[in-house]
Amino acid sequence: MFVITQSCCSDAACVSVCPVNCIHPTPEERGFGTSDILHIDPEACIDCGACADACPVDAIFPAENLGTRDKVFIEINADYYKNNPDVKSGWSDVVYPEIPKLPAGLRVALVGTGPSGGYALRTLLDRTEASVTVIDKLPTPGGLVRAGVAPDHPGTKGVLRGFDLLYRDPRVTMATNVEVGEGEGQITPAELAEHFDAVFYAVGASESRRLGIPGEDLPGSTSATELVAWYNAVPGADAAPPIRRSTDADPASGRAVIVGTGNVALDVARILVSPPELLATTDIADRALDILRQQNVHEVVLLGRRDQAHAAYTSAEYRALSTIPGVEVVVVDDADGAGVPDLTGPADPDNRRIVFLFHSTPDEILGDERVEGVTVTTGGKTHRIDADLAVRSIGYRSVPIGGLPFDDARGLFPNVDGRMLDDAGEIIPGSYVLGWAKRGPSGGIGANKKCAQLTVEDFIRDAVDGKLVRTTRQPGEFTSLLRKRTRHIIGYRGIRAIDRIERRRGSEQGRPRVKFTRVGDMVGAAGWRKR
Ligand code: NAP
Repeated sequence: MFVITQSCCSDAACVSVCPVNCIHPTPEERGFGTSDILHIDPEACIDCGACADACPVDAIFPAENLGTRDKVFIEINADYYKNNPDVKSGWSDVVYPEIPKLPAGLRVALVGTGPSGGYALRTLLDRTEASVTVIDKLPTPGGLVRAGVAPDHPGTKGVLRGFDLLYRDPRVTMATNVEVGEGEGQITPAELAEHFDAVFYAVGASESRRLGIPGEDLPGSTSATELVAWYNAVPGADAAPPIRRSTDADPASGRAVIVGTGNVALDVARILVSPPELLATTDIADRALDILRQQNVHEVVLLGRRDQAHAAYTSAEYRALSTIPGVEVVVVDDADGAGVPDLTGPADPDNRRIVFLFHSTPDEILGDERVEGVTVTTGGKTHRIDADLAVRSIGYRSVPIGGLPFDDARGLFPNVDGRMLDDAGEIIPGSYVLGWAKRGPSGGIGANKKCAQLTVEDFIRDAVDGKLVRTTRQPGEFTSLLRKRTRHIIGYRGIRAIDRIERRRGSEQGRPRVKFTRVGDMVGAAGWRKR
């Protein structure tokens, strides 16, 4: 029997190769995209291993090969079928939609290389003969897979191997380190519209939402977005390290408070409280590892405004917390606030724990020059938590792009099923939006597959119906424009060179890779000489 484990990316590659249809939920079933992992039906599995071969993130193993930490997933897989008795495994026909005849020579630009961009590229290459220019503002592709997935989930990042194969397709041109917008050195959306028959924006949601409480701007108060970018080595995310260094004269309390109980909050809690020697085997940024080693967070308190039954995390991520060596998980879920432990004074340096306080909202982040604590109301009772780090993990917003419409209230690009709308609410021909930038910040990596497929199908329909405005420009004209506008465009060879060097640096230290943290260093690694 095979078992799906935590690093499942829900991309459903396993679903399509399973000869007995024993992996659920499928993309057509309720719960796909919101369920954290897919599950193998232990009663129906025929032990063929096709799923394990197809899995892009090495998340599927024979039950007997699972290590102690992963054995819990045998039960998680089986529980899914106990809790969803209507789900039926068994042989089923796959029906592929017919590919309609499209106009010849379509040229498409795809902005963004995260999960939604990757899945859109795969669908565009599978379903059309279009040539695709893939643009990303960072030199390295991957979007939130590289910048957001936690360093201790290396298997999940394997999804990028599948996207990398697509970048080698002769119909694809890679152009990274190229930013779209109306600023200096940027390519404008109007120029993209002029040079391509269609433009897909898969630009994600990389800005944090705010709590709107006093003290939110104190040093030591940060967003999960900033903290994750910092420990994941995103260039530019180290301007002000979110965690201060502890000193003898001013020791850190060893406690952090996180507002929110989504999977991002759990990622951050795990990274903060994990023993640093475990993190040292990952691709975490050295800048973060240095401080975490020295600052030593021992206790993370997560605040959920509702009860535990309504926590936003997924159960596999929650259950995996109990597998971090030496970390205790404490849950306080009393509607009247009884049972809240004393969280004043420094955290116990001899214990590591994660404390969930449900029915809790933060009232104020306390401190004169930096965070010293948080006032919290739990079940109607107000109390103080001493901490020197306060992290809001309450969701993301897209960042507006100059020259494109933006729905500021919802923090995304206005669209109908992925067709971008202008300020008057009219469809902009040939302009599409995908992923979190289209539907808001929900769903894991695999949820973007279906989302991208649907939008690409809309594009195909528009192309067939003659609704695209065809470009009159030659492909070479866009290349000239790019060269004139931006200095260091990086193509596929440059991307591979950066990857090779990062991996080599990692292998010297027994780690998967040591990431570059500066764009200049990436540009150098890609082969550009300093002028
Ligand atoms: P999320 O799942 O939407 O969770 C947001 C959390 O913030 C919820 O606990 C929410 O509480 C709380 N919240 C929102 N506004 C608040 C406010 N004003 N005051 C207090 N609390 C507030 O978002 P996320 O954690 O950023 O994750 C985004 C998506 O990425 C999710 O679909 C997640 O599953 C996915 N993801 C998956 C993985 C993985 O599979 N390993 C890892 C990371 C992210 P309420 O529930 O009460 O609204």
